[in-house]
Amino acid sequence: MRDFSRDHRWLAINTATVRVQWPLDRIIDECARRGIRAISPWRDQVAAIGLDNIAKRLRDAGMALSGYCRGGMFPASTTEGRRRALDDNRRAVDEAKTLNAPCLVLVVGGLPGALDGAPAHKDIAAARTDVRDGIAATLAYARSVGMPLAIEPLHPMYAADRACVNTLEQALDLCDALDPQASGALGVAVDVYHVWWDPKLQAQIARAGARRLLAFHVCDWLVPTRDLLNDRGMMGDGVIDIPRIRGWMEEAGFAGYSEVEIFSAENWWKREGGEVLDACIARHRSAV
Ligand code: ZN
Repeated sequence: MRDFSRDHRWLAINTATVRVQWPLDRIIDECARRGIRAISPWRDQVAAIGLDNIAKRLRDAGMALSGYCRGGMFPASTTEGRRRALDDNRRAVDEAKTLNAPCLVLVVGGLPGALDGAPAHKDIAAARTDVRDGIAATLAYARSVGMPLAIEPLHPMYAADRACVNTLEQALDLCDALDPQASGALGVAVDVYHVWWDPKLQAQIARAGARRLLAFHVCDWLVPTRDLLNDRGMMGDGVIDIPRIRGWMEEAGFAGYSEVEIFSAENWWKREGGEVLDACIARHRSAV
């Protein structure tokens, strides 16, 4: 297992972690200044500054991406809605390509309309069919331009509104169905916040192997958790044994970045951005 205690060369910052404090161009500058070599930006943050502008800034800073957030949200209650989702995913693939991302992360969606508070139906099996079909269609395009897709299983508390793929096993079943040869075009993003509780986690990470393990996201699970979305903890402040999970990832052949992804309305988003990045660096060394 790699020793992270001496430096932070394998630290990446998911830019949602400081999204409240800074726009993306400033985040790139602040990360570069601290020797952080990779980020994973969100589409709205890129759009706010401009895609080509961000691509140039990344090149100038010599900064890599650890992923691009995000595609997905496939289920819809109408044919037109499903088509719009595919169009949007195609644009996300193109943006990821322009930014030279190693993968486009997919948060696949749940019941159509649920994220806006108005679920169109209660048929989660139908939503999962939409997800499978949506990934299949997006994969055909992503393959043609050489952009890997990473399915991110989300904690089951998000099954209704954000993702009806909720375990690593379920995500890998999709990978095996849609990319049986494990070509590298389709894999998973393992976020400890979503999967730490899963009794099958170690076995499923081993099953995935290096070809399917495309991203590793870290933060911590706070006790108590006060908000379902925006109360993620800094690594070391909660109950996830992150080094153990990283060990399983590396045993399976993963050798990429540990990407810090913290949504924290009542704590980290209220602090000065530099303090947050410095904490990410320190905890990457001591708790990842
Ligand atoms: Zn994540």
